Amino acid sequence: MPLLARMLSAPMVIDVRPGAIRGLGALLADRRIATRGRVAVAVGPGQGDSITAELEIDEAEIFWIADGSHRSAVSLGERLRARAYEAVAGIGGGRTIDVTKFAAHMAGIPMVAVATNLAHDGIASPVSSLEHESGKGSYGVVMPVAVVVDLDRVRCAPDPLASAGIGDVVSNLSAVADWELAAADTGEQVDGLAVAMARSAAHAVLHQPGYARSDEFLTVLAEALVLSGLAMAVAGSSRPCSGGDHEIMHAIDQLYPGTGSHGELAGAGALFCAHLRANPGQAELISACLARHGLPRTPDDLGLSAADFAKAVELAPATRPGRYTILERLSMSAAETAQRVEEYARAYAG
Ligand SMILES: [Zn+2]
Repeated sequence: MPLLARMLSAPMVIDVRPGAIRGLGALLADRRIATRGRVAVAVGPGQGDSITAELEIDEAEIFWIADGSHRSAVSLGERLRARAYEAVAGIGGGRTIDVTKFAAHMAGIPMVAVATNLAHDGIASPVSSLEHESGKGSYGVVMPVAVVVDLDRVRCAPDPLASAGIGDVVSNLSAVADWELAAADTGEQVDGLAVAMARSAAHAVLHQPGYARSDEFLTVLAEALVLSGLAMAVAGSSRPCSGGDHEIMHAIDQLYPGTGSHGELAGAGALFCAHLRANPGQAELISACLARHGLPRTPDDLGLSAADFAKAVELAPATRPGRYTILERLSMSAAETAQRVEEYARAYAG
């Protein structure tokens, strides 16, 4: 019999609700995840104390993660391997989850992601983004076996971490448009299922009218971030969620470190790319959503001059060689870039 459908690898459990962390003990006792109960828990420096106090898993060993570096991830991976753990849960923000994902992959054990903020789409993705001696690198890893989002923790996360992932999700629209551009110009194959998941996730957030700290909104955002991670797993690359928007984000990160979080920069990058694509409908949707949630849209909002932003746009294509986007299609001169950035900054000022 011919194969009737493709097989997807996906987390076994997605649990998004207030107080979800308290269900972690029962989840880790699931014999599909750990048969002998030898589990480890990794927490970050910020909320580690309060998280461990809330956990009801006496037998799990707690590891403290100092930072989001490749070195920390390798060190955790070695310790997990040395003590023959069966599974590890990473509880915290993006850095803690990325370090734990990499370490679990290295030790060859399943990883449970427990997100305490919704800053970007790494919570359920097969990618770990880590700092190293020459900048930041993205590493392909096995995706989490379970994803838990505790809405109580997310609601209390400091701005803009709680919901900067809004910018990361809406940038899917721009990434998908770039992918379709690549199909038209270079013949690159587009994966329709990955596009369906990435674009639906973006629209769910764009059209959810709620206040960013409400459970209704945060649930939609968490689910959209999970779907974005799955879209990347389906595509086998970050293509459905990362186009010119993310090239600009990486360039700003390189040139002006500390300007904004991943989600904030991806959102502004997506708006600029929609503007370049002369797609007023898409630009309006993205702009209205970012403005509604108080996320930056213009160079000024990011604390950059138009000239600084233009410099980042010029550098952007070099941050992701081989990825064809609106920036590669236009391949603008420095003068053209400066002019397009000026008109963009004017259009969305105030
Ligand atoms: Zn992203």
